[in-house]
Amino acid sequence: MSFIRVALDVPLPTLFDYRAAAATSDDIGARVLVPFGRTIAVGVIVELASTTSLPPQRVRRALSILRDVPPLPADILGLLKFCSDYYHHPLGEVVLNALPTRLRQRQAFQGEKATHYRLTGAGLAVAAESLPRRATIKLELLRLLRTAEAGIDEAVLRAIAPRAAAALKTMTEHGWIERVAVARELPRAGAVALRVVPGPALTDEQHAAVASVRSADAGFTPWLLHGVTGSGKTEVYLQLVGDLLACGKQVLLLVPEINLTPQLEALVHARFPDTLLAALHSGLNESERLHNWLAAQSGAAGIVLGTRLAVFTPLPKLGLVVVDEEQDSSFKQTDGLRYSARDLALWRAKQLAIPIVLGSATPALETFHKALNGSYRTLALTRRVNTMPPVIECIDTRREPLIDGMSQALLSALRITMKRGEQSLVFINRRGFAPVLMCPSCGWTSGCERCSAKLVLHLQEQRLRCHHCGHQERVPRACPQCGNQDLKPLGQGTQRIESALARILPSARILRIDRDSTRRKRAWHEMRRQIHAQEVDILVGTQILAKGHDFPQLNLVGVVNADSSLYSTDFRASERLFARLTQVAGRAGRGASRGRVMIQTDFPAHVLYQALCRDDYPAFAKELLAERKQAGFPPFVYQAVLRAEASRLETALEFLIRAAREGAKVESSVTIYDPVPAGMPRRAGLERAQLTVQARSRPGLHAFLRAWQVRLGHAAGRKVRWALDVDPLEL
Ligand SMILES: [Zn+2]
Ligand SMILES: [Zn+2]
Repeated sequence: MSFIRVALDVPLPTLFDYRAAAATSDDIGARVLVPFGRTIAVGVIVELASTTSLPPQRVRRALSILRDVPPLPADILGLLKFCSDYYHHPLGEVVLNALPTRLRQRQAFQGEKATHYRLTGAGLAVAAESLPRRATIKLELLRLLRTAEAGIDEAVLRAIAPRAAAALKTMTEHGWIERVAVARELPRAGAVALRVVPGPALTDEQHAAVASVRSADAGFTPWLLHGVTGSGKTEVYLQLVGDLLACGKQVLLLVPEINLTPQLEALVHARFPDTLLAALHSGLNESERLHNWLAAQSGAAGIVLGTRLAVFTPLPKLGLVVVDEEQDSSFKQTDGLRYSARDLALWRAKQLAIPIVLGSATPALETFHKALNGSYRTLALTRRVNTMPPVIECIDTRREPLIDGMSQALLSALRITMKRGEQSLVFINRRGFAPVLMCPSCGWTSGCERCSAKLVLHLQEQRLRCHHCGHQERVPRACPQCGNQDLKPLGQGTQRIESALARILPSARILRIDRDSTRRKRAWHEMRRQIHAQEVDILVGTQILAKGHDFPQLNLVGVVNADSSLYSTDFRASERLFARLTQVAGRAGRGASRGRVMIQTDFPAHVLYQALCRDDYPAFAKELLAERKQAGFPPFVYQAVLRAEASRLETALEFLIRAAREGAKVESSVTIYDPVPAGMPRRAGLERAQLTVQARSRPGLHAFLRAWQVRLGHAAGRKVRWALDVDPLEL
């Protein structure tokens, strides 16, 4: 073999041929340095070849094959090829994006460095008695460092006390200790005996769920673990994880959000204290991410816990995949490579012939449909563990004057809950003070110049902010249009609810939790501590709070302003609203007393609220499925959206009209809809439009997309940026 085909991080649907006489089949999946244009690029060897279709003088020589870390295994290359095919995205970008950033860089990986502290001669000479007795941290550091000639990892030393970092600094200034960089050892797969700390006794339903999976035939089985909030889905996962670890297998655990990982990480670690757990999410720095990725790839990590990107992690002994909150839209990437990690996880499990468990209280309709028709097997957890389900009621707000968006009924429930020494949550899915600032005299509203969206009033910071493009400006003193000085905030956001509650319930200790208040590192960690320590009476929060957090003292949940997405043009809006409200409602009553959920609405008779009050997702989902079938929407048809962006809307629309014409030339049975401006036509200064295509069969859709994509390249021109979104979640 004298040629290699290389994936490079460029937006072209092709591999690049290079000469590499020394390459062997062991190098497939390895990184390689190649000349590309006038630069040197890092690529990944995807295939070896004995011939090339290029003229010989145009084939350049690969510079060097990097054998510093093991190559990507064949199953991952297979997954990446499938991903590129299915989402119609260039293979090179797909492959390179799946690598940790450090491995995309040109320097070979030199092994990792860790920072150690060790005693200097002067430090060794320091007598413990010469230090004051209250200098406990310094004394402890000296004692520890005396035991380790090679020094001790900085992270370990810092962990002994909150003030250890300051002590290390002073001791360095005294010349007692010094920092040294040492090579960090990568964990290797070893024969560590599995230690399992027993968990709580299983309920009958949990027991039945675990038993079903255990007794199923080996091979690919997709399971839907449909469990109401608080029914103990996690315990079922942990039991199954234990089974697999006992057989020496690895488990991939996907969760929708980074915020949820520390909690789950702690739980998993407590159950399997000797098993190496590798977390993989965007909250890690590059070196941590690489370290964990290598621990997964070597087989040393028994459990990989991560967000959507973790689906691409090489796991040589993968035996089970769990996708928690499988309905969550954050499993779908919404720019660049628009993949769904849940769907790729299913494909991966199928290829490897292993089971996969999709967990949810409100499964995605696609998933629910497959469970109904028998493609997935269902495990049902219908009852909460040890607690009663909350009482959910609708507060009819049509006739009642609201006080800053809150009803008397909600306010008095908040008061009573506080008197009982319990916690409440007021949920409003909008941060800031008010969604828009308005001039009552001329009708001016605070719009964003770069987006078709309103600027949100953030009163505390005295700013108007766009939540879409990040633009911000000072709050004007007077109307920019007519000079009127009496501008009015319209509607509610978390800040407004917070300040209204502070006024109405002056003795309440209120904590606002939204993206603004949790921006600082560790802010969320500290807030959680405050809530658990009962230093808070009322939480005001967005959906950050809704997901998976257990607060045992929280007994009342009030939902403000939920109606806004009830009559949306997006056919998925009500499915999402139901899921979100179920999650929020699930926060109530996780402790001893029965929870109460009050939903303020102008439409108390709406089927969604009716089903929610009965806690009957299956009935609601079946109704939605019937509607979708009637209207010809997914999951009964398969969709893709061609999205276009340009500085002028006409340019984007003209491209889409050309694209539709090109599509009509492709022989197929897909339906091509008319181009329309996007739901939010202007964003960050770009005009956006889209065109939906729809097919009765998945293969039919993909055959069309393949043929169409070639033609699109010619139709685009330079002024338009376009992308295909397969199985779009947002229209
Ligand atoms: Zn005005
Ligand atoms: Zn904007």
